[in-house]
Amino acid sequence: MKALEEKIMAEGTVLPGNVLKVGSFLNQQMDSDLIMEIGREIARLYAGEKITRVLTVESSGIAIAVAAGIALHVPSVFAKKHKSANMPKEVFTAPVYSYTHKETYEIAVAKEYIGREDNVLIVDDFLANGNAVRGLMRIIEKAGARLAGCAIAIEKGFQGAGDELRAQGIRVDSLAIVQSMEGGRVEFRAQ
Ligand code: 5GP
Repeated sequence: MKALEEKIMAEGTVLPGNVLKVGSFLNQQMDSDLIMEIGREIARLYAGEKITRVLTVESSGIAIAVAAGIALHVPSVFAKKHKSANMPKEVFTAPVYSYTHKETYEIAVAKEYIGREDNVLIVDDFLANGNAVRGLMRIIEKAGARLAGCAIAIEKGFQGAGDELRAQGIRVDSLAIVQSMEGGRVEFRAQ
């Protein structure tokens, strides 16, 4: 998506450890028009797929998941990373190693928000090593739901997870694929 690539070039910064900082438009401050455009683009890609739910993991995937859910006219659900008092007892869980925090979380989705009848689209802001996506896939599997695909705003192609998932026959659509960030210079590749 050209607008997303241009925004990354204009405002993204490369931090040590191969982290792309996009706090000014995606991760802390959010560019409302861009987020909604990302949501519409995801909805366009999955228009024929009869998606019933969008699934992400808190917190940075939520904005895009909501935008995609609005455009697809379906609910968006996020997996929680921390246990809270108002979380129902009946949950599907999966362990996820966090790329940015360097620790393992148990993510959880209440059983009432995902079920066998669902055709689920996973949405996230980044795809790096694929741990978040694989954790969400595990929850979909436990729920007996169908995985329609994964729609990602920014895939870091050089970390390989997107291509591994595609090789497994899983549909992965990334709106921007970063090929390299060497020397702080971001380069993109085609899908
Ligand atoms: P993965 O589980 O695929 O290794 O990493 C995906 C998750 O880690 C995303 O949900 C995202 O929040 C975070 N993440 C991974 N790489 C980056 C990055 O380069 N920049 C930012 N801002 N977040 C990242």
